[in-house]
Amino acid sequence: MEKSKKVIIAGAGLVGSLLAIALKKRGHEVLVFEKRPDLRLESLSAGKSINLILTAKGIRTIVALGLWREVQTILSPVIGRMMHNVRGEQAFQPYGKNPSECNFSVGRADLNKLLLSEAQKAGVKIHFESSLTAIDFENKKISTTNNEMISYDLIFGTDGSGSIVRKELIKSMGEHADYKVEPLGTDYKELLMPALPNGDYAMDSKSLHIWPRGKHMLMALPNLDGSFTMTLYMPVTWFKDFEDKNKFKTYFEDNYPDTIALMPNYLEDYYCRQQGFLGIVRMKPWVYQDQLALLGDAAHAIVPFFGQGMNSGFLDIYTLLTLMDKYPDDYYKIFSEYDKEQKKNGDAIADLSLDNFVEMCERVGDEKFLFRKKVEMKIENAFPEKYRSRYGMITYTLIAYYLAKEAGVIQDQILDQVIGEVTSLEEIDLNLAEKLIDEKLIPWFHQNQISVERYLP
Ligand SMILES: Cc1cc2nc3c(=O)[nH]c(=O)nc-3n(C[C@H](O)[C@H](O)[C@H](O)COP(=O)(O)OP(=O)(O)OC[C@H]3O[C@@H](n4cnc5c(N)ncnc54)[C@H](O)[C@@H]3O)c2cc1C
Repeated sequence: MEKSKKVIIAGAGLVGSLLAIALKKRGHEVLVFEKRPDLRLESLSAGKSINLILTAKGIRTIVALGLWREVQTILSPVIGRMMHNVRGEQAFQPYGKNPSECNFSVGRADLNKLLLSEAQKAGVKIHFESSLTAIDFENKKISTTNNEMISYDLIFGTDGSGSIVRKELIKSMGEHADYKVEPLGTDYKELLMPALPNGDYAMDSKSLHIWPRGKHMLMALPNLDGSFTMTLYMPVTWFKDFEDKNKFKTYFEDNYPDTIALMPNYLEDYYCRQQGFLGIVRMKPWVYQDQLALLGDAAHAIVPFFGQGMNSGFLDIYTLLTLMDKYPDDYYKIFSEYDKEQKKNGDAIADLSLDNFVEMCERVGDEKFLFRKKVEMKIENAFPEKYRSRYGMITYTLIAYYLAKEAGVIQDQILDQVIGEVTSLEEIDLNLAEKLIDEKLIPWFHQNQISVERYLP
């Protein structure tokens, strides 16, 4: 039986509130500080309605904490990408081998509200509108904006990409801390496509819709109420240019003509919503002695193009809990092992997400790329036990991010060889594909004890 500790969590976002539930269920005394007011008492402010894709690694943590039944009630299934070109033509690319291989779209605020309620039900104390401002590591005390000094045994920083806990950690580690913010140079704004007057969705509701336009794009995910949250990604400098309403109107009409009739308020939405920053935070280490660990965006803010920011934060929680089982009460060991394992994963998913940004912006409209995807799907369907695309490994399996990244390099070599000069699917030599998989991929899977099996809750 593990000893009960006095735990402080800074930040009651998605990761902080789920972590609070987990630690309370293990018998710890859990006190959470959250800078913002209680979400459940607020009407949603403009620009904060983001919806997210929840996938295998995130789902596993929710299941492990006994919350899957509750969370399921706020999810919408998404089975593939619908690409929209400038002529308004659509092309569907399924995510998986069949519609059961779907992703789930969930409103960030809906999920956060649910987790806050579950945390309080479990007995977690949450102080809203109260921020952590400083940490005294020597005396194991934190200060808050309410001028309190509170002692702790363990402290967790889940206070997002601008983390104060991380700043305090960096301060205490001096030159031993390695910290970098890499702005993407592309930011985003949220718009809304409302439900039709009869309540129906205005577009296919089982798809993630993408309008790829080179360095900029529009994306849409369905909400439960028949609307779509539309996210417009553009180079940072364009936001300044588009302070001129006519310029923005012309840009939008030229690039997304098929959406105009379905988004009567797109101009108002654009001008009343905030510009969201996108970038990568890289930090080393994520832990301090046997006292502190960073989780979620506080440790590894990434760009959202693999839909894994929250999922990787939930994976942080799962890894931490596994280590708490393995090394009961030994927080030096728990935190150092957590840092070793999850830092690799954090770096890998940061890199993969950047790569997917290029894919979603540029390559999804490229004929060669689309053909490569079709070939990969043909191979995946022919050898489901042996081959799963990198996207599939990240999204549907429990394979660690860094291993999925390494496997992706081997798979690229296989695809290069199988495709060669071939230009039609019928000409693809599946015997060659299997031979290469057996020679190059399977031994590597065995060596790393990897199973490509899909995780199902
Ligand atoms: C456009 C967009 C789309 C995305 N899509 C996806 C997706 O499809 N799938 C996915 O998995 N992820 C996605 N993400 C990423 C995901 O939103 C984040 O990874 C996730 O919200 C991180 O959760 P968190 O709890 O670590 O941080 P946050 O959600 O940022 O929560 C941090 C909390 O800490 C509080 N706080 C801050 N400072 C303090 C302080 N000093 N004291 C106390 N409290 C404090 C904040 O108020 C906040 O509530 C997307 C992100 C963006 C921007």
